[in-house]
Amino acid sequence: MPAQDLLNRFVFEQDAVRGELIQLGPALQPALARQSYPEPVAGLLNQAFAAVCLLSATIKYRGATTLQVNGTGPVKMMLAQTTDELRFRGLAHWQASESLNLLGEGRMQITIDRKDQPERYQSLVPFEGGSLSHALEHYFDQSEQLPTRFWLAADGQRAGGLMLQQMPGAVDSSGWEHLQVLAETVTDAELLELDAESLIYRLFNQERVRLFEPAVPSFGCNCSSTRSERAVRTLSYREALDLLAERGEIEICCEFCDARYRFNSRDLERIYTRLQSSGPSELH
Ligand SMILES: [Zn+2]
Repeated sequence: MPAQDLLNRFVFEQDAVRGELIQLGPALQPALARQSYPEPVAGLLNQAFAAVCLLSATIKYRGATTLQVNGTGPVKMMLAQTTDELRFRGLAHWQASESLNLLGEGRMQITIDRKDQPERYQSLVPFEGGSLSHALEHYFDQSEQLPTRFWLAADGQRAGGLMLQQMPGAVDSSGWEHLQVLAETVTDAELLELDAESLIYRLFNQERVRLFEPAVPSFGCNCSSTRSERAVRTLSYREALDLLAERGEIEICCEFCDARYRFNSRDLERIYTRLQSSGPSELH
């Protein structure tokens, strides 16, 4: 397992190509802790964590990036989300199966919630052939029109990923072609086991590479009592009272981190009184 969770950015100045390298290990444990995922499903989700962090690191503005795949395979839905500070969380819904093609065919949705804009940016690309990296390359082709390549590897405990991207306005593509040929030789074991400097040296030792200070991805969930209150408010007052009578309290459990938020009769009174004063239509 890599001793640390790190995301390194680097640039090939002569070729107008930038790159990112991520390695995740310890931070994956709390991210997977809520469910007992079978090893292959955990591996897939770990790959998605690496991918969404790489994706977020290419974006310059502040906000959250979400990658979601809905497929026809045993893993029906997989979601990985990160903030611009690389605090990530995620989950997968799956059913037991012998199939190795876990996601099958489907679609991948990328959502970017910018802090400075009210509207979300959403993009859909087809998901084919079970490869997250191909779907991501397709996404960049379609939405950013920047040639971008991904190499991802993961198992149940760790994940590694490499991304190369041609910078906007690059005129000569021979450097880009050459760097892709070099990166193509990377193995899963190298992505998972070599530290950033060793891996960059192993792949690109003939090139001039500028490596920046790494960022540290970590597990993090932004659930809160206020957000859970919104879930309670989707019930009518009558439904909420019935639930309370049945269970003594209403408990909302966060699917990402297992935090539990409890609401008693006094909380309900507060929530629904506020709703009433903000307009009767919301009571139904
Ligand atoms: Zn949470």
